[in-house]
Amino acid sequence: MATRERHTFGNHEVANQPPPLADYNVFEADTPLREAVRREGAEWAEERIAAAGAYAGSARAQELGRLANENGPRLKTHDRFGNRVDEVEFHPAWHELLGVAVEHELHSSPWRDPRPGAHVARGAAFMCMSQAEAGIGCPISMTYSVIPALRTQPELAAEWEPRFLSSSYDPANAPAPGKAGALAGMGMTEKQGGTDVRANTTVARAVNGGGPGAEYELSGHKWFMSAPMCDAFLVLAQADGGLSCFLFPRWTPDGERNRFRLQRLKDKLGNRSNASSEVEFDDAAAWLVGEEGAGVRTIIEMVNHTRLDCVLGGATGMRAGVAQAIHHASHRTVFGTVLSEQPLMRNVLADLCVESEAATISALRLARAYDEAIAGDEAAQNLKRVANAVLKYWICKRAPAHAAESLECLGGNGYVEESGMPRLFRESPLNSIWEGSGNVQCLDVLRAMIKSPASLEAFFSEVAEGAAAEPRLEAYAAALRTELPGDVETVETRARHLVERMALALQGSLLVRYGDEAVADAFCASRLAGDWGQAFGTLPAGTEFARIIDRHRAV
Ligand SMILES: Cc1cc2nc3c(=O)[nH]c(=O)nc-3n(C[C@H](O)[C@H](O)[C@H](O)COP(=O)(O)OP(=O)(O)OC[C@H]3O[C@@H](n4cnc5c(N)ncnc54)[C@H](O)[C@@H]3O)c2cc1C
Repeated sequence: MATRERHTFGNHEVANQPPPLADYNVFEADTPLREAVRREGAEWAEERIAAAGAYAGSARAQELGRLANENGPRLKTHDRFGNRVDEVEFHPAWHELLGVAVEHELHSSPWRDPRPGAHVARGAAFMCMSQAEAGIGCPISMTYSVIPALRTQPELAAEWEPRFLSSSYDPANAPAPGKAGALAGMGMTEKQGGTDVRANTTVARAVNGGGPGAEYELSGHKWFMSAPMCDAFLVLAQADGGLSCFLFPRWTPDGERNRFRLQRLKDKLGNRSNASSEVEFDDAAAWLVGEEGAGVRTIIEMVNHTRLDCVLGGATGMRAGVAQAIHHASHRTVFGTVLSEQPLMRNVLADLCVESEAATISALRLARAYDEAIAGDEAAQNLKRVANAVLKYWICKRAPAHAAESLECLGGNGYVEESGMPRLFRESPLNSIWEGSGNVQCLDVLRAMIKSPASLEAFFSEVAEGAAAEPRLEAYAAALRTELPGDVETVETRARHLVERMALALQGSLLVRYGDEAVADAFCASRLAGDWGQAFGTLPAGTEFARIIDRHRAV
């Protein structure tokens, strides 16, 4: 009997390993997020966000996320008879996760039901769902973001908007009019330039004279076009009048496959559940959105919204890392003491929490600026103009370091795929790269300062709201102010340092006003007053470590 038991259960009892962190509501367990949802005007949506949180934290959703990553998309260029089909095959786990996200209207809710707090509510639910799997965030975010750009061309919007706003996910590769719902993508980047889209070489020829809303034919390529199974894409191409924005559907209105080829799928570091393709257009049918030559101005309306999602995505990764790190450290004993009670580990965990709370609080504040700006509030529009680029730069830049440190809290287990931490780590650099990489965001902040001084004023008046109550923030903001822009000859060289400090001033102001007192104090002491090292885990000794960690504990 004893021998049989040993074979059944192994030759030892497993000890000192944490239970899995599963089957919990990722919204209800996230105190800073719950508080931010109320503060930023989306209290009315708590039940809906909690429903997304319950799903995302379920053991099933976590398992589907793993499966979707381990069984990534496959390109099927031809059918068995040799006909081109240009399809992408996904694992059922991907379809289920994407379907749930569409059912929860993460791609559409603020446009379906516009009201104060709508973008905050959607942002919070997006943060929850992305904790099941970040890859589905790509088509979800692009479909959410396409609406304002598409509305530039009302007749195209009238035709496509109802499809994009549908709450039914329909994965069929078929003409959009017969489908229960549609998703949108975006194609700007070409081989010779991604940041510099003016270098695009894809050509658009008018079919019948052209003009806004008219049909053109596209010839050329895109080097990155993610989620290529989407039903339509906004793409940039050179028309006679210059770089222009086009709506390019996968199927033509007469029910034929549009004339484009999926050349390859990218073999990516992370975001592996999602497909990112290289495509070529061979006189593909597309419809002009906006004026010829206004391509960047038109598509930037889409990019502005995907940039909000990059900020939310960066904050999401940090929250996921913190939840796992605290969970592990609370169940693991080393030298006879639980890790989360050991002074140095508490410093690491608390520092990760401070960074995560600063990211969450500022991401949701930014989402409110979207709500207010869309409702016509000029001050909010100005704040959003600068704050989006500032936060995209800083939160996305902090994400990989944060993910690496969270991973290390799990020791060797954190380096092993089963823990989910390698997936989090691989995902972490992406939000910084797409929709304008780090330097591009910093240069955008400089551009905003020069072109729209009111946006800088709006930014500093938001910072000032916290400064009066906190001398360390006041001193920090005053010093920063004198350097903006400072010596114009060197401002571009200094842009990263300036934007980093702008981000810290904004996050400090929000934490001082709305964050937990202990978190705000630790933030001001470390990030603003300089009592900090160069790695996480260097908060000053007087910090209320236990209180900060408890606030961020998931279960
Ligand atoms: C997984 C993935 C999916 C993607 N999906 C899509 C998609 O669906 N559609 C799409 O259109 N694109 C997509 N992209 C492309 C992405 O948006 C671009 O890669 C990104 O904008 C950077 O462009 P680039 O690769 O051409 O790099 P470059 O423009 O060559 O930039 C290289 C580096 O130089 C920096 N830089 C650029 N200009 C300056 C400057 N003036 N001063 C200082 N530094 C500068 C950048 O910050 C960057 O770090 C995707 C990329 C990835 C990785």
